[in-house]
Amino acid sequence: MSYQNFSLKQLQEIDAGHHLHPFTDHKELRAVGSRMIVRADGPYIYDSEGNEILDGMAGLWCVNAGYGRTELAEAAYEQMKELPYYNSFFKCSTPTPVLLSKKLAEIAPANMNQVFYGSSGSEANDTALRVVRRYWALEGKPRKNRIISRKMAYHGSTIAGASLGGMSHMHEQLGGAVPNIVHVMPPYSFELAEPGESEHDFGIRAARAVEDAILEAGAENVAAFIGEPIMGAGGVKIPPESYWPEIQRICRKYDVLLMLDEVITGYGRTGEWFAAQAMGIEADTITTAKALTSGYQPLSALFIGDRIARTLIDKGGEFFHGYTYSGHPVACAVALKNLEIIEREGLVDRVRSDTGPYFRKTLMERLSGHPIVGQVRTVGLLGAIEIVADKETRERFQPSGSAAVKVRDHAIAQGLMMRATDDTMILSPPLIWTRETIDIAAARIERALDLAA
Ligand code: PLP
Repeated sequence: MSYQNFSLKQLQEIDAGHHLHPFTDHKELRAVGSRMIVRADGPYIYDSEGNEILDGMAGLWCVNAGYGRTELAEAAYEQMKELPYYNSFFKCSTPTPVLLSKKLAEIAPANMNQVFYGSSGSEANDTALRVVRRYWALEGKPRKNRIISRKMAYHGSTIAGASLGGMSHMHEQLGGAVPNIVHVMPPYSFELAEPGESEHDFGIRAARAVEDAILEAGAENVAAFIGEPIMGAGGVKIPPESYWPEIQRICRKYDVLLMLDEVITGYGRTGEWFAAQAMGIEADTITTAKALTSGYQPLSALFIGDRIARTLIDKGGEFFHGYTYSGHPVACAVALKNLEIIEREGLVDRVRSDTGPYFRKTLMERLSGHPIVGQVRTVGLLGAIEIVADKETRERFQPSGSAAVKVRDHAIAQGLMMRATDDTMILSPPLIWTRETIDIAAARIERALDLAA
């Protein structure tokens, strides 16, 4: 059945009648109707009305290799013909997850040699939570099970993912979060630094909030700290340089495991394969998904560091956990081809040495002086623009988030897909963006800001 037999209005009516969307106010959606994205190519998405929109979000932070990659479609097709599905349960395996695991171990930090597959970042974080708690139980310390996370963190939408995350509105709807997870302040200096406090000092203070939480619980009760190297969905909060080294020091001092969530930062976005490498963080687990397949197939890979893996393997017996689609052969075939493309085209190097610095320079020069821009920040091809009513006092527009939504809507009308989170505009484009694409995007953002001001 082709969608082309339906008008936009008909599709919207069916959508409203039968389809509940994620993270959506359905009453509000019914009033306006969904925009139907019907195809995509390179850096562009196209809606049913023929509008060409530059995708500044790589879908949902995932289409790193860009759209229209027939090689990925062919990899899926060939694998589906040969072996569409078989599992890795009951002493079986299939070749593509095996070969993908080898490739992942090659590109990951040196201590990351084991991966556990799922279909989403949320599932991977659910696995990570089980793994760290299981680790301490096997080490004879079952009470060492508290997890420290941060407010504004996003770790997924399953019950474990949402409990690990620090979004208060998600907790309110959970009807009972996973117990023994606490949330401390995020490293968000734009709003949380004291007047006159340097970035360095703020970074140390934000990290010490983790130490305070450890001391309050007693280190013997704390299993792990979990964090995104750069908070993504919470508003691309780039921590001061002092933050992660201090977190690392604290975790080592109290023997608290360090869980990194690289679902957004993994696979090249920061100019290294992983932000752990870009930022010098030594983790015990690393959660990845999204760009592992550039979003062409649902797949997550949780890296489990040598320390934990040794215990799980040597002392663990059966690990009572897994998903039907763990190590799905088609998703893994697509991931292998996707990593090959990213490598062959030098996309990670390009972000590090060319497009990342150019993205930063261009957004800084063209946008940071705008009357409603309070701050521009970027790492690699990840960027945020803070929207303010007053540049000096950083006072926000009221109601909260209203101006950012206007900027977003104007940007889309100008032909650039962006996201607004509270008062922050977010960019996370495909890694295939060139200097020319960055110039086009900056011009469209400038215009959207002018129209919203
Ligand atoms: N962790 C982070 C940092 C994320 O940004 C996301 C999704 O945006 C997730 C976990 C959850 O991933 P998924 O939506 O694939 O479950």
